[in-house]
Amino acid sequence: MSISQNINAILEKIPAKVQLVAVSKTKPMSDIQEAYNGGYRIFGENKPQELAQKYNELPKDIQWHFIGHLQTNKVKYIAPFVQLIHAVDSLKLLKEINKQAEKNSRVINCLLQFHIASEETKFGLNLAEAKILLDSEDFKALKSIQIVGVMGMATYTDEEAIIRKEFGNLKAVFTKLKADQFLNNDEFKEISMGMSGDYMLAIDEGSTMIRVGSNIFGSRY
Ligand SMILES: *Cc1c(COP(=O)(O)O)cnc(C)c1O
Repeated sequence: MSISQNINAILEKIPAKVQLVAVSKTKPMSDIQEAYNGGYRIFGENKPQELAQKYNELPKDIQWHFIGHLQTNKVKYIAPFVQLIHAVDSLKLLKEINKQAEKNSRVINCLLQFHIASEETKFGLNLAEAKILLDSEDFKALKSIQIVGVMGMATYTDEEAIIRKEFGNLKAVFTKLKADQFLNNDEFKEISMGMSGDYMLAIDEGSTMIRVGSNIFGSRY
């Protein structure tokens, strides 16, 4: 199947209210152009310079999502155009995004990344850490970023029950934050979870945004 056929096959399987981010990281411009020619506009990348280069060379109505770990010194490469930054897990990073957004006269949408997998990883907050961040005066002073939801990655495993439980935990984190911190904020509505191997499970557990790469563009090796 072609790239566009792969995208359409996924779109047919998922509810219309769930957004598909086509993860094009490591893939050539021609692959993205092909998906674009087929009508698709929402792509995800995880390397700031690679993303900036693709932005420069590809059509300007593409919505670019940054999905990976972002270093503060690289925010500047994507701040002029990025649609959504998926994996923010520190106040330090938020402050830099805010600064670069201001420079570009924009408000940049961000998701808070939560650590939901049993695997050891450096990245992602827990609920207590998120609350401290969101309650801080430093955070409240940031006017050029907007937190629009949460993001997480499940453990890399074949065991469906584990994945389902971890996605359920992220949904619970979202619900709690919505009630405690974002009750009157309609922009806080996204739960970014689900990749090629587990996106149907993620949608079952409440995902509003899936990030799918290899099922669309083929494996990355
Ligand atoms: C690479 C990546 C994806 C897509 O992974 P696939 O398994 O190829 O669908 C999704 N989310 C993040 C954060 C990624 O780095």
